[in-house]
Amino acid sequence: MAKFANYTRRKTSTTHVGNLCIGSDYPIRIQSMANTSTNDIEASVAQTLRVAQAGADLFRFTTQGIKEVESLAKIHSQLSTNKLDGFSQLSTLNSTLSGRMPLVADIHFRSDVADAAAAVVEKVRINPGNYANDPATIRERFTHLIYICKEHHTALRIGVNHGSLSKRMMDLYGDTPKGMVESAMEFLRIAVEEDFHDIVLSIKASNTAIMVETVLLLVETMDKENMHFPLHLGVTEAGEGQDGRIKSAVGIGALLAAGIGDTIRVSLSEEPEAEVPVAKALVDYFTNPNSPRYTDNITPPLSGEAGKGLSHLEKLYIAAEAGYTMLVKHEDWSYPEDEALQNDILQAAGKLRYKTEFVSCPGCGRTMFDLQKTVHDIKEALSAQRSFSTKCGLSAEGGLTAQSAVFYPKIAIMGCIVNGPGEMADADYGYVGAGKDRVSLYRKKECVLKNIPQEEAVAKLIELIDADRQRG
Ligand code: SF4
Repeated sequence: MAKFANYTRRKTSTTHVGNLCIGSDYPIRIQSMANTSTNDIEASVAQTLRVAQAGADLFRFTTQGIKEVESLAKIHSQLSTNKLDGFSQLSTLNSTLSGRMPLVADIHFRSDVADAAAAVVEKVRINPGNYANDPATIRERFTHLIYICKEHHTALRIGVNHGSLSKRMMDLYGDTPKGMVESAMEFLRIAVEEDFHDIVLSIKASNTAIMVETVLLLVETMDKENMHFPLHLGVTEAGEGQDGRIKSAVGIGALLAAGIGDTIRVSLSEEPEAEVPVAKALVDYFTNPNSPRYTDNITPPLSGEAGKGLSHLEKLYIAAEAGYTMLVKHEDWSYPEDEALQNDILQAAGKLRYKTEFVSCPGCGRTMFDLQKTVHDIKEALSAQRSFSTKCGLSAEGGLTAQSAVFYPKIAIMGCIVNGPGEMADADYGYVGAGKDRVSLYRKKECVLKNIPQEEAVAKLIELIDADRQRG
């Protein structure tokens, strides 16, 4: 297939994350996130090394409290010094890893934890949606965090997610692109006033159309205020396997094709090292057409029915270009050579619902059950149900007809109760981890079964969907 020919990178400033520079003067950086418990030092160090070996530039850990900050300090120390006994096969990597692979603390809700983490790792991600609600508290806490970041040369990511805006932003704008952009801009204006510039921004959503629209609005808004911070791109809860890869390619690829994006994460409900070759392939396609192609390591292979006869990379690139055509240029797109692949891509872009849609978070240190197995079990259980051949288009408002919603629901499988219910956004059903081996089930935003044993939860979810379907 023809290489993408029109790539021009949006000019952005440089953000320093340890020894790594992020911005348009540097290659697009690849990142991933641990799914180990942050307090399991040995497993976390081992996973960091595997992800570094796969080619990631940054690695993020969930950081719920001060205990996790202390664990991050130990992980950081083991990676930064020669204390890697037991990983001799990676000893050469160790020497290059030291000082090269910055760690990122992922913080929700607790500004005191962000303050502590900023003294330990190279970058801290905060979520404006749960950092503080009123402007005075935001200013006080964020200014204090900036002070610590300046002292320790720590970078920040302002990471907004669809479905987790503050109450004030929801009241002002609803859960809209405008609300997400204003949520980020509020923090950026304070940072600029405080002369702090080591910032990366992200606005993510599971819905690729909303994600692309919002990032484009953010760029336009920043341009008007003469801000040029680098952007981190990602589609949240993209799922796994071929569908997860295609959805990520549609959303991330659409923006990369428009020259936007300085660091990316492909979020899959798989091991984090499986995310890296997919991200590298996407970056490579747009920015580095002469480099060797990553033809063999898009694991697991893109082996769905759709796109038979095409290489893994060809499917990703068709999806990325389709995303650009539909979500940035707002033009029609079709791929008559392969109707199954065309339909998967249209569904990933939110233009069609022709099969059950699964969204699942990648899992992290907050996940208290086997997420990958659960996704697999739910898919298996649903595929054993009666199948329907009717193809259903979306209404003008993006909703489904009552009949098609029953036949082709969107099912979210989320690792934790802290972020899961908000971030599963517009799913019809939710399977959400509620604690150790406990699960809560949702119909839309309503929790219908709370804290049930995990071993019963898949069957209960199927019963719930079946009962709704029988009722029509
Ligand atoms: S929903 Fe919860 S478990 Fe899943 S990635 Fe987000 S924070 Fe982690």
